[in-house]
Amino acid sequence: MADLDTEQKGAAQTIAFRLWNSRWLLIAGIVAVLAVYALAAISAYVVLAALLLLLAAAMLPTAGARQSTESGPAIEAIGLQRLSGEYLAAAVADPLIIFDRTATIVHANAAAFAAFGGIAPGMSLSLKFRAPEMQALLDGVLSGDVASDVVDYTEKLPVERAYRVSASSVGHATDLYVLVFKDQSETRRIDRMRADFIANASHELRTPLASIAGFIETLRGPARNDPAARDQFLQIMQSQTGRMARLIDDLLSLSRLEMKPYLKPGTEVDLREAVDSVIDSLGPLARENSVAIERDYADGPLDVPGDRDELFQVFENLLENACKYGQSGGRVVVSIARSDAGSEQGIDVTIRDFGPGIPEEHIPRITERFYRVDVETSRTQKGTGLGLSIVKHILTRHNARLSIKSEVGKGAAFSVHLPTH
Ligand code: ADP
Repeated sequence: MADLDTEQKGAAQTIAFRLWNSRWLLIAGIVAVLAVYALAAISAYVVLAALLLLLAAAMLPTAGARQSTESGPAIEAIGLQRLSGEYLAAAVADPLIIFDRTATIVHANAAAFAAFGGIAPGMSLSLKFRAPEMQALLDGVLSGDVASDVVDYTEKLPVERAYRVSASSVGHATDLYVLVFKDQSETRRIDRMRADFIANASHELRTPLASIAGFIETLRGPARNDPAARDQFLQIMQSQTGRMARLIDDLLSLSRLEMKPYLKPGTEVDLREAVDSVIDSLGPLARENSVAIERDYADGPLDVPGDRDELFQVFENLLENACKYGQSGGRVVVSIARSDAGSEQGIDVTIRDFGPGIPEEHIPRITERFYRVDVETSRTQKGTGLGLSIVKHILTRHNARLSIKSEVGKGAAFSVHLPTH
């Protein structure tokens, strides 16, 4: 009964659609018949017959409509709605496929064509997506057991992509169904990164903690009455708590920066003043490592929009690394220069050391959290493995770029390009 109602409604909609499409022709015809009636004084019956003929002609399907009728009974049944269905499918950014009760593709949007090469209307979905979870999903909605269902599906080629696929029946006697693919690859990657980060951070904290716990036990046991050992152990414990504190400080810095990644810093920073105070604050470390710091600044104002404390942290991390890892070079050059390469006007701050440098294969990963070229050297240099990732975060907020150049045996140059507006 419901089907009959829908069919009647569908037929009425189709007739209305055709009349609307032929409205101008119809109006012109009526005017012409009435004009002939007025001028040629023909019989009213002839006029009525002519008007009825016009109406019947307007209700006949046009060539385009006939073509769509021939392309399948399901499409005829939905008439106008099919048209808006295609528009809606095109407006959906995720891959979307409309299929019929034989699991044959009726329509696919542009995102689906882009994501799954080689699909076309008329193709069998079961042949295209052979994975058991996709078959079960299709079987479930096609059998009518469920109106909609969701599964996780991974497409292996050309690159691995994880999707959450939902299938649902369109209903309203259309006999059509919809598949929507939500790409989960980015979410999965972020989940994996978060898990790796927590594992790394826990490991970094556990190592000094285990060492402190071990020394406490020794002090309470075998070394209880050994003043010399006690002094030595307390010193190690102090350096381990320092390591934990540095790590926690860096973790807090990172999390603070992550909470405001797109908040643009709004004040002007005088780079000459900021870099000078970084050099002053690292004077003791440079002297301790026998490293001479040389300055090479351009003349005139060297201001950029930014957050002074954050930029201070950037130059501090880079200069500290240069003094620690480039110690053997004996000197570090800090330069500030204006750069107007193309439309990207800005100021470059470069920190160059003459130490062992960084092998090329490490450079692309060096700003990742906890990535070190050599873990032991980093530990002895009181590194946390987070310094350069903090630098990267701050520079992103400043719309700035970090470029790293190095030649093994000759040193490394870390260059920060800060836009002036
Ligand atoms: P860390 O706290 O270990 O110093 P960073 O993120 O600051 O962490 O640096 C990551 C790694 O990059 C360091 O462990 C070191 O191996 C390498 N590195 C950084 N700066 C230099 C440099 N100037 N010369 C050589 N290696 C460097």
